[in-house]
Amino acid sequence: MADSPERIKCLIIGSGPAGYTAAIYASRANLEPVLYTGPEMGGQLMITTDVENYPGYPDGVMGPQMMEEFRKQAERFGTQIRMEMITKTDFSGPVHKVWTESGHEIHTDTVIISTGASAKWLGLENEGRLARNGGGVSACAVCDGFFYKGMDVAVVGAGDTAAEEAHYLSKLCPTVHMLVRRDEMRASKIMQERVKNTENIKIHWNTSTLDVIGEEEVEAIKVVNNVTKEESSIPVKGFFVAIGHKPNTDIFKEWLDMDETGYIITQADSSKTNIEGVFASGDAQDHVYRQAVTAAGTGCMAALDAERYLSAKGIV
Ligand code: NDP
Repeated sequence: MADSPERIKCLIIGSGPAGYTAAIYASRANLEPVLYTGPEMGGQLMITTDVENYPGYPDGVMGPQMMEEFRKQAERFGTQIRMEMITKTDFSGPVHKVWTESGHEIHTDTVIISTGASAKWLGLENEGRLARNGGGVSACAVCDGFFYKGMDVAVVGAGDTAAEEAHYLSKLCPTVHMLVRRDEMRASKIMQERVKNTENIKIHWNTSTLDVIGEEEVEAIKVVNNVTKEESSIPVKGFFVAIGHKPNTDIFKEWLDMDETGYIITQADSSKTNIEGVFASGDAQDHVYRQAVTAAGTGCMAALDAERYLSAKGIV
């Protein structure tokens, strides 16, 4: 027989800056929150090196260290942190039901969604296979760059992530080929300058990737110049995909209003979704700013909204 459902007041899903900040506020307000970390405890910052733009760290901080500090601060006020995934939700009634991967059922008055976003892939024929077998395709230079020390690599993308990854790899690899599909970059000016001023980063403008070549390991990438239509191949051992992210919101699709990409729609100046008692924060609902500091800010908003909701219902 299955265990009887656990009854709580506040469930937080996700452990990036939004989730932990929501947890700090919710636990200090006696909502006794339970936080499910999801697959990557600490979220996207666990795969980042230096964070130089989070206020309060004048000398910068490593992403994993910052998330460790967020976690400790949430635990200090009594947040229960559980390393598991929520895989199913039912928001049809006044009490919200969720299930964990192992089948544990939780009934909660409020849900704070802070599930973040995940890296996107190009969808090329050999890309998935060579990513799954550790053959040289990766979406995280900081995690995997070390394996390509002394070897030539390529990075695809032209946003801040791609610029950051190319710069990181330039310290390990003789040549970093950066593949930019247009004749300009989307990255911030400071990151563009950093990339352009790094001697061993070779920027290939107007260049798209046609495929990754190699059976067990990456040997080269096949590219095309979008202006001249000329195709060529670049020998590399590592291929890093840095083309943006998709929000991790699939388990809420049945219940919540979302835009066409899957970002949860929240009401103006609030974290409220279309379902009472369900609040969204961080990259799961923000496709505009997507910064650690803005995610933390919306996590705070979600906890305050949850507290007001519970208080209006006389639950706390
Ligand atoms: P972005 O959405 O900003 O950029 C994605 C990039 O990938 C774009 O240059 C886009 O090209 C390119 N791209 C998309 N699809 C393809 C494709 N099929 N083939 C080739 N190129 C493709 O994502 P990021 O992850 O870079 O950044 C997300 C957010 O996080 C941004 O707001 C960014 O500022 C922020 N960020 C901040 C950092 C920091 O401050 N330290 C570090 C990293 C990210 P195109 O331009 O042609 O559309």
